[in-house]
Amino acid sequence: MAFRDILGQELAVKCLTRSLARDRITHAYLFTGPEGVGQNEAATILAQSLNCLENSRGPCGSCSSCRRILAHNYPDVRRVLPEGNNIKIDQIRALRKDIYYRPLEGGYKVYIISEAHKMTIPAANSLLCILEEPPPYAVFVLLTSQEAKLLPTIVSRCQRVAFYPLTLTLIQDKLEAEMGLGREKTGVVAALAGGSWDRARELVESGRAGAVQREILTLTATICSGNRAGEWQVGGEWEKNEDLPLLLQQLLFWFRDLLVLKETGSGELLLHQEEIPRLRQMVQCYSRRGLLEALLAIQETMGLLTTNVNTRLALDVLMGRIKPHGVPII
Ligand SMILES: [Zn+2]
Repeated sequence: MAFRDILGQELAVKCLTRSLARDRITHAYLFTGPEGVGQNEAATILAQSLNCLENSRGPCGSCSSCRRILAHNYPDVRRVLPEGNNIKIDQIRALRKDIYYRPLEGGYKVYIISEAHKMTIPAANSLLCILEEPPPYAVFVLLTSQEAKLLPTIVSRCQRVAFYPLTLTLIQDKLEAEMGLGREKTGVVAALAGGSWDRARELVESGRAGAVQREILTLTATICSGNRAGEWQVGGEWEKNEDLPLLLQQLLFWFRDLLVLKETGSGELLLHQEEIPRLRQMVQCYSRRGLLEALLAIQETMGLLTTNVNTRLALDVLMGRIKPHGVPII
């Protein structure tokens, strides 16, 4: 993998390749942005570029150093991950001990700290001491999705490289090319992934995207058939579902699709490309105002469920607010 393979992050890639081309390597980089949008890959490629035996600055990807860095089997590139919920002081102490030994093989010792915002305060202070006077061969790459939680004194010592959420179309293209999903299935998964390729892949591989989709189709079939008793059972089932936030998210996308269909009459912009016939059928029973009310109700429920609310009751109220006020659809 090379920098050009990191899709959708042109600014970050430009910043890193420029820094390498001009031999202006800083001692600490801070990669910010949502998880799973290329930071890990970029950190690995930076470490390879700094230690590539071909000195290609590309990197070459095939020399022994490049291959071992990719396999996490290279002595001068270390990765620090949270142990449990935190990165602890002992982990940074171990790093401090290691850093003063010169590189064994390469030109640089690279320390990649994932989820850097999870450092405890003592750990962060300990890292700060190293960042104040790092040895010339040391390069730190801190990765974070929550920059605001880092000590400002750490942020100010790093060169910030921003990564951004991937576009819907880019994630759809990757789902199609790398996971063999039909284009009509990719819209919802990409929307649920919220700009993160890692999340999109996980949703498909774990089967969660499929399971959530089936629940939504069951609910909409219940609403369409006018099965009022069935609607009241949904709250009880969803309450026990571990993926409740995801269910509500997709329900929101479903009603968003209904609204788009109501306003445009066209299926082109819909996320649920596979379900256009059902959406067309369902939209006839809702007024524009009814759809806006349903969208509002779902968003309010999503907010309520992050507080200490009675989940079953909140879901029951939601079901009452999203059904059409009219005769059954089928
Ligand atoms: Zn190489």
